Amino acid sequence: RYQTEDKCAEQLCCWVRQYRKYTLEGACASYIPALQHVNQSQLGICIIGHNGEVIKAGEADVTFTMQSISKVISFMAVCLDKGVSYALERVDVEPTGDPYNSIMRLELKKPSKPFNPMINAGAITIASLLPGTTKEEKFDSLLELLAKLLGRHPKVDETVFMSEWNTAHYNFALAHFLKAEGFLECEVEEALYVYLRQCAIEVTTEDLARIGLILACDGYHPLKEKQMIHPELARLTKAIMLTCGMYNASGKFAAFVGAPSKSGVSGGIMTAVPSRIHKATPFHNGCGIGIYGPAIDKAGNSVAGVKLLEHISKEWELSVF
Ligand code: GLN
Repeated sequence: RYQTEDKCAEQLCCWVRQYRKYTLEGACASYIPALQHVNQSQLGICIIGHNGEVIKAGEADVTFTMQSISKVISFMAVCLDKGVSYALERVDVEPTGDPYNSIMRLELKKPSKPFNPMINAGAITIASLLPGTTKEEKFDSLLELLAKLLGRHPKVDETVFMSEWNTAHYNFALAHFLKAEGFLECEVEEALYVYLRQCAIEVTTEDLARIGLILACDGYHPLKEKQMIHPELARLTKAIMLTCGMYNASGKFAAFVGAPSKSGVSGGIMTAVPSRIHKATPFHNGCGIGIYGPAIDKAGNSVAGVKLLEHISKEWELSVF
């Protein structure tokens, strides 16, 4: 039996109420000083279905910075401009069991090609490859793709940007190492300006759900009836999200949620749920999900957000497997 939209919205509100308690098990990212004092008890979700139905629960309309979720957009922007093989010559597509900002294994690996575009080493390299000759042009090219997907021009949270710029010691270390190894196509400061600025772009759960939906539909925007991203690139991006998108918790996430997702340390999660047309469960034609829950775990993923997604995935059979 298909569930009505109202019934789904009602269930979602109930699950958000039930899972909010897990926000107490995490903490807001403190290494970026501006994120430290956010209210950690927030939990919000937005789901956009194939026919444009939007359902929300909890703090779904709060704005927060994209952080690592922006790595999905920069990767696609580089592939769209320079081609997939160009990008993959410089960044691999293998998961690592290490934290997102780890430098350790890069040195052991020769050549030190970053493992994938979803960890910081890969994303800083990708930022340096964005089209444009100046850091502003590079950032604008990413923003342009994002604006196209969102249907609006997002803003940068200057406080978060400056706060991270002043304290990004691990990222500076990574960028200098990558520069020395010949992976950056611009200066260290320029690559980091672009990377840290993309991390500080403001979004809502609805924005994330919209991008998730487009990816779920292999790059096709079902509401605008327009192909926005080449299907092959959308599939590649989803494969990288599934294997690397939740960092060193990607395996568990694939096992217990089973849908390509990307998280960020601000507590956002963007999920693309492809169609499972043989099912009679809600959103079986595919959907995009955006989550916000700023209390994160050691791997950098929203604690309550992951728990909530596990529950929804089980109830509505969202897994691609
Ligand atoms: N801006 C953050 C960093 O580079 C992004 C990391 C994340 O969201 N996991 O540390």
